[in-house]
Amino acid sequence: MNAHHQQQLCNLCQGSQFTPLSEHDRHGKALITAVCDNCGLVTHMPLPSEQALRDYYAEDYRKDYHGDAVPNPRRIMRAWHNGERIYQQVSPFLPRHADVFEVGAGIGCTVKVFETHGINASGTEPNHEFNAYTQSVLHAHVENTNLYDLKATQQHDAVLLIHVIEHFREPLKALRTIARLLRNDGTLYIECPNLSAPFATFDRLFHFAHIYNFTHHTLIQMAQMAGFEVVKIFSSEDEPDIQILFQKSATVPSPKWDTAEAQRIHQAIHQYGTLCYHMRGNYLRRRISKILSYLDEIRHAKAFVRVLEANFNP
Ligand SMILES: [Zn+2]
Repeated sequence: MNAHHQQQLCNLCQGSQFTPLSEHDRHGKALITAVCDNCGLVTHMPLPSEQALRDYYAEDYRKDYHGDAVPNPRRIMRAWHNGERIYQQVSPFLPRHADVFEVGAGIGCTVKVFETHGINASGTEPNHEFNAYTQSVLHAHVENTNLYDLKATQQHDAVLLIHVIEHFREPLKALRTIARLLRNDGTLYIECPNLSAPFATFDRLFHFAHIYNFTHHTLIQMAQMAGFEVVKIFSSEDEPDIQILFQKSATVPSPKWDTAEAQRIHQAIHQYGTLCYHMRGNYLRRRISKILSYLDEIRHAKAFVRVLEANFNP
């Protein structure tokens, strides 16, 4: 074995036994994804270096992942509606005049939605191009900083982490850092893709930028290890996204790893043969509603964004 090749340890349980799940990403490029035999956490092997990630986000992210260098109207409208949905879901759990902070705020629509509902909302976004739109058009309070550069102020009532945790190189460290941004009874709302209910066929599942692939089980264990307990699980096991609200906890339980989780993941991702996948009622319903909302978006997005931007730029 190469002397420079350190053995990779699982970010959740520190285990060192992994079983490969896939050798290719969704574009057919080489990418080894494996599951930890001990706890079921799914990750790339080897982990991409910090530098490789920086290069990736700097050069390829927008093209590879979002299609456009500048957010197009459809994307803005979608982000705005998504922000409204998140607000409706999370706001019943917030105190009056809450202070809410989003980590990985993207183009800033969710922060702005919360602000329009009277929340003291702010956030951080490492991508400076997203940040330019946020600052100059939405005028939302999103800073172009890195999570690890933030001061541990313990001031926020809630943190939002929307499709971000799967991008961290060390999600446990990220969650522990987030815990230090929150008040003692503060809440953390997480959304991320659900590996056990794939949103794509097997050969389209894995993506370089999604370093980790969570199930409800592994996400909850990760949050518990970082000092959070579950308040409410909004998503079911067969929905494409995990949606869970956590609360900062005084105690970190001693972990009990479930070695059956790795087996469940093998079964879950291999039950989605192409035919089976396309026949599924849930899939069809989601597909149809996706196409309808796509048509709706094309019709309405430009006008929607014109009104939105005029609203914040009188
Ligand atoms: Zn593990």
